[in-house]
Amino acid sequence: MSTAATTEALAIQGGPPVRDELLPYGRQTIDEEDIAAVVATLRSDWLTTGPKIHEFEEAFAAWVGARYAVSFSSGTAALHGAVFAAGIGAGDEAITSPLTFAATANCVLYQGGRPVFADVRQDTLNINPELAKRSVTSRSKAILPVDYAGHPADLDELSRIADEHGLTIIEDACHALGAEYRGRRVGSISHMTVFSFHPVKHLTTGEGGMVTTNNPGFADTLRKFRNHGISSGARERMASARWEYEMVLLGYNYRLTDIACALGLRQLSKLKENLKRRREIAARYQVDLRGLPGISLPIVLDGCIPAWHLYPVRLDLRADRAGIFGALRAENIGVNVHYKPVHLLSYYKAQFGYRGGEYPVAEAAYERLITLPLFQGMSDKDVSDVICAVEKVATHYGK
Ligand SMILES: *Cc1c(COP(=O)(O)O)cnc(C)c1O
Repeated sequence: MSTAATTEALAIQGGPPVRDELLPYGRQTIDEEDIAAVVATLRSDWLTTGPKIHEFEEAFAAWVGARYAVSFSSGTAALHGAVFAAGIGAGDEAITSPLTFAATANCVLYQGGRPVFADVRQDTLNINPELAKRSVTSRSKAILPVDYAGHPADLDELSRIADEHGLTIIEDACHALGAEYRGRRVGSISHMTVFSFHPVKHLTTGEGGMVTTNNPGFADTLRKFRNHGISSGARERMASARWEYEMVLLGYNYRLTDIACALGLRQLSKLKENLKRRREIAARYQVDLRGLPGISLPIVLDGCIPAWHLYPVRLDLRADRAGIFGALRAENIGVNVHYKPVHLLSYYKAQFGYRGGEYPVAEAAYERLITLPLFQGMSDKDVSDVICAVEKVATHYGK
């Protein structure tokens, strides 16, 4: 596909940009029904620890096909809860991907454990099961796969490794709400699955998170952990006219409010539509960007239906990633980078002595990755603008 724009000067060289306003890489959609639901909760008796939490958790569990869903004040808090419930403590190890948001590894550190990275596979950029297996030691307690960009990790292979060594799988599905793996929805498969409701994710509550599980023991521990380790809620105590409570473990205040859950319920009712639109946009990228010089598109494995949180492409052009990033930003396309590998972040380098070179596949991918805008609220014109800008820049910098 060749348009007039490809022959125009790049915006970074003083030419006209493809669009006048910056298109972000991700963005929430909030409609009048969402606002009305929040306002109704603000007028109700319960701003927090009320009926909306239970309603949201039930609806969410039913949507993903899990027995239990336990809400948290953020995806990070939900990860922390899952790490606690898996019994990870001082000196224990959890195996995870280096190509993720820092929170996936940080949650292990919160409990005094050690995140052990295993490199990713070259195609999906999800944790390589073979390398995960080789990272198992007598101190391993869990594997934390990340469904990168919304494409499920190799959950069957990882689950076999976990079974063999008595490990818990905590799936970081913060990118993957609505994804399917071999006929099953993400959230119904792993021992625990963690979701985030940050505004760039598929469903938002402002800040918020959820753990889904089929294990009643995990669900019970997660509920206590998010509420200081206290074994009954304020609402139950009020209903049963009791003041006494017990604290049975050291938990936190990681509760999600009723205000947030009212919003989450409305957002959940539109999740199907949202996913459909994300898949449409991704399908257009897959077709219209195919064959451009120096741009490798995401691949989808057989049996997987991604949720398309991100659309990351890998570059092989005459300019480095920073150059292409600048050129696309100048065209007002809000590209981003996911992620700088966690072991290369200053804190991890200082604490654990990483110097680079430890996880070559993730590191090489990072040098070439750029995330194109993808969110349900994009118009067809927005999608065309992205395609036009990528075409213009790739043609200019093609080898
Ligand atoms: C968003 C995200 C988180 C953290 O979620 P918050 O709700 O922002 O705390 C964790 N892991 C991954 C992979 C994420 O994308």
